[in-house]
Amino acid sequence: MAETIPAALGEAADRFGEHPAYIQDGEEVSFLELLRRVRRAARGYVALGLQPGDRVCVWAPNSIGWVVAALATSYAGGVLVPVNSRYTGHEVAEVVDRTGARIVVVEDGFLGRTQVADLRAASDLAAVLAVIELKDLSDLDMGAVTTAEIDAIAESVCADDVADILFTSGTTGRSKGAMSAHRQTVGVARAWGDLGGVTGQDRYLVVNPFFHSFGYKVGIVTGLLTGATLYPVATFDLDATMALIETERITVLPGAPTVFTSLLNAPGRADRDLSSLRLAVTGAAVVPVVLIERMRADSPDGLAFEQVVTAFGMTEAVVVTMCRQGDSAETVATTCGRAIPGMEIRIGDEGELLVRGDYVMLGYLDDPAATAEAIDADGWLHTGDVGVLDEAGNLSITDRLKDMYISGGFNVYPAEVEQALARMDGVADVAVVGVPDDRMGEVGMAYVVGTVNPDDVIAFAKGRLANFKVPRHVELVDALPRNLSGKVLKNELRTGG
Ligand code: ATP
Ligand code: MG
Repeated sequence: MAETIPAALGEAADRFGEHPAYIQDGEEVSFLELLRRVRRAARGYVALGLQPGDRVCVWAPNSIGWVVAALATSYAGGVLVPVNSRYTGHEVAEVVDRTGARIVVVEDGFLGRTQVADLRAASDLAAVLAVIELKDLSDLDMGAVTTAEIDAIAESVCADDVADILFTSGTTGRSKGAMSAHRQTVGVARAWGDLGGVTGQDRYLVVNPFFHSFGYKVGIVTGLLTGATLYPVATFDLDATMALIETERITVLPGAPTVFTSLLNAPGRADRDLSSLRLAVTGAAVVPVVLIERMRADSPDGLAFEQVVTAFGMTEAVVVTMCRQGDSAETVATTCGRAIPGMEIRIGDEGELLVRGDYVMLGYLDDPAATAEAIDADGWLHTGDVGVLDEAGNLSITDRLKDMYISGGFNVYPAEVEQALARMDGVADVAVVGVPDDRMGEVGMAYVVGTVNPDDVIAFAKGRLANFKVPRHVELVDALPRNLSGKVLKNELRTGG
């Protein structure tokens, strides 16, 4: 069984051959063709001077070209650094400098921006061998680098070599670069595919950005291991997504809770046949129980997924827990499942979730102090999330330690309050943060999207929650600030930004 990305790609070409690996905008690329394109781009990288262990930044929206640029990095023995496609040239220049990247692959013109010019304006890119536009990837000069040479480089990649550096979402502060070995990236992608029962029959829509572990590791890499056909989505458009599900008979849809919420509320949904959807995987944020109920096949007017699965993951440990086939609706709705094979979990001080095992990152990029703070001497990763375990070992995330606030001496977990308020008619979206209060220390402030009256929201909360949990303030807003993983940027709410 393959333990490196190049080996996984080689095996995929052997096993799945002409079967489509990717379909986007009518272009179909088989596993064999994918290997051909990757080899070609990898020869170009090496001809430019890329050495084993060198880093390559890929800064582009989801596309087949992204996949080629990324896999070619591994094939040439390099380390992949996926970059947030929404970043500006300045932000990317910082990532390039932090990682010492030698090659930067970009899609110029994404969101109407002149990426290459912006990047060059922000940095002299002194250590960079080349900035390559995605469209030029297929005609890189390969110099004297032969196929045999590139295959030899690919074969020399070891399971313990660093495969990638993925940046955390930056929900709680500056993004941190988490380094993983090939063994880990391939291993977690395989575990995820096994637990989800993903096969070559699946048609798998990837709305999660490729630069995040849910797009890259349990998207692209799981695709290589299972033979599933992936459909990259560059920017999430509700109508286009529904059309794609209908015409391509999509079976697997992993996504942030917001993806499913918008599908459920889509005006044109009744006119679409979405019955091919088999497996939904969600997580990444606290998932409203009502949402899970409405996604299942047995819900009237719901999304009719045969299987809805919740999971807990983080960039530093990719997938930690996941529900299993056969778990009750209750378990799926109220927990994010049990530790996956190879991982252990326990609850530490202050209720913090601790994680240990095969897929915990090697460490943060160039930050031994932060690594030592995150991973203790016994190998436990301190997640910063508050969790509880039931008797069967199912995990529920109650909140982030940083989001918890103390009102009149009592701990309040905003996530619990949000879950309660989400059940109110007319509430479309809600986020709660603690704000300073002279008398109580802190009190809850609820930002609500919807057609409700603030006083009614407070009255509703009083009917369901202990008094110290009831928000004292309610503000109606048009939308909540979220990052691309669907997480509410609570720092922005707290600072009124
Ligand atoms: P940063 O670490 O930079 O502040 P981040 O933690 O949001 O950003 P990610 O690694 O993308 O970056 O996200 C991991 C976090 O997502 C987890 O620590 C947890 O807070 C949240 N999360 C993931 N899955 C779930 C889930 N099923 N339920 C609740 N929260 C979840
Ligand atoms: Mg984090």
